[in-house]
Amino acid sequence: MKLIGPFKQIVTLRNLPLRGKLSDDQLEIMTDGGLLIKEGKIEKVDSFQNLKEQFPNVEIEKIEGVQICLPAFVDSHTHICFGGNRANDFAMRNAGKTYLEIAETGGGIWSSVQHTRSANEEELLKTTLERINFLISLGITTIEIKSGYGLDAENELKMLRVIKKAQTFTKATLVPTCLAAHLKPRDFEGSSQEYLQFILDEILPKVKEENLAKRVDIFIEKSAFLPEESKEFLLKAKELGFEITVHADQFTSGSSRIAVEVGAKSADHLEATIDEDIEFLAQSETVATALPGASLGLGEKFTPARKILDAGGILAIASDWNPGSAPMGNLIAQASILATFEKLSTAEVLAGITFRSAFALSLEDRGTLDKGKKADFVTFKTDNFQNVLYHQGSLKAEAVYIDGEKTA
Ligand SMILES: [Zn+2]
Repeated sequence: MKLIGPFKQIVTLRNLPLRGKLSDDQLEIMTDGGLLIKEGKIEKVDSFQNLKEQFPNVEIEKIEGVQICLPAFVDSHTHICFGGNRANDFAMRNAGKTYLEIAETGGGIWSSVQHTRSANEEELLKTTLERINFLISLGITTIEIKSGYGLDAENELKMLRVIKKAQTFTKATLVPTCLAAHLKPRDFEGSSQEYLQFILDEILPKVKEENLAKRVDIFIEKSAFLPEESKEFLLKAKELGFEITVHADQFTSGSSRIAVEVGAKSADHLEATIDEDIEFLAQSETVATALPGASLGLGEKFTPARKILDAGGILAIASDWNPGSAPMGNLIAQASILATFEKLSTAEVLAGITFRSAFALSLEDRGTLDKGKKADFVTFKTDNFQNVLYHQGSLKAEAVYIDGEKTA
């Protein structure tokens, strides 16, 4: 056993509801606290002094200076395995060019597909690990990563194998998701419905066989896959034993309803969700995931996070880090900016990037500092936890712990 502390404040996030709005006075803030760690898990959270008296012989890892401690963050939606760079798309979009004009000059998602297809596994592994390490430096220790820039059997499997390999190089938990249904590739001869069938017949069985992912995602949108064909695809993927998540309601409404109807773990984006569908989603077990990085990258409106929480929904916040629409990758900056536009309490933001986003990944062993939970936590050199969001991402994490060990 090991005692880590003292911390000026430990914000445990325990004993909070999974769904609905939260006020900051619901937060448990332990002053001059300590964490007792046993075999990578939290044994006890209490005042440092009490723990020292109760366990006089325990090894002590002393915290220097004034620091606060939070559960480590969970980024439940990223696309950080990719080749190439789309800075020119960003510049063109900001200069007023349309999606089509950008595509005509060789930009758009197809350029990421070409770069990812032409990259070998080592190159992809190297850049993916660099992005993972950046996320860890922010205090994020659980990272979902999607495929979706391969869009054929060989390259979708290549991406998922790279993510699996990346797991052997990092202590962070990586959660792979198959997003072969990102869009129908230009070189697929057949309808989008036939492409979805191809995924079911040719890709998902191999994903299962090699144990590359337990989750399947789809982009339901006018430019990608239509609602009815998507629903059929998701029900079949579910029959194969996959958990479901959906890129829903980014530009047009209607698909969050499908996510709920198929029992998806999460519906992500929701910038265009209509009020009636917010109610429907909020009454379900499907997590509503806001992706403020995409709103910031595209200059589009934010997910109606306030309405989702007020309606009693489970709100998570994730980075959507990808080369096209969300290049920033700084979840803390994005979540605090979402808070200023959507009027979210600190408790709601912290819940959205910890235990509520962990729930979206079916990882209920983390996201709070409580007995039996995975000892993943992050510390900041400050005397007040409010400073983390107040500085909008510019207050750097002091240390990041995974399974009770300092890693960054
Ligand atoms: Zn995405």
